[in-house]
Amino acid sequence: MSECIFCMVANREIPSKVVFEDEMVLAFDDIAPQGPVHTLIIPKDHYADLGDGVPTELFGRLMDTVVRVAEIKGIDTSGYRVIINSGRDASQTVNHLHVHVIGGRQMSHGMVNFAENS
Ligand code: AMP
Ligand code: ZN
Repeated sequence: MSECIFCMVANREIPSKVVFEDEMVLAFDDIAPQGPVHTLIIPKDHYADLGDGVPTELFGRLMDTVVRVAEIKGIDTSGYRVIINSGRDASQTVNHLHVHVIGGRQMSHGMVNFAENS
């Protein structure tokens, strides 16, 4: 049994709403969506964050999957925001690399909110 929650999702040890998968990645809906569409894409293998020796091919596959998820979710023409929180200052909470795909509603232009006490 894995200790990492997204390894557990990848291994189907805990349930998720799967949107897409292939041999390298799994896309599933976020449990606490921040928009009408909020899907996460993870590598099936464990990498803690962007700096954890991720192979170039996997980076490509993750981005291919972003485009695919947007099509599946019907937000490819309306647009969407892609977010990767990597490390402490980005407030990454799950230490298994994941890509957020968020859309389905107009967003404001600002992207970054700093913590008030930082
Ligand atoms: P981050 O803050 O970038 O690490 O994002 C972690 C995301 O994972 C948050 O948006 C959570 O709502 C989401 N999350 C945590 N546990 C689960 C889960 N079991 N299934 C789906 N999404 C999850
Ligand atoms: Zn993991």
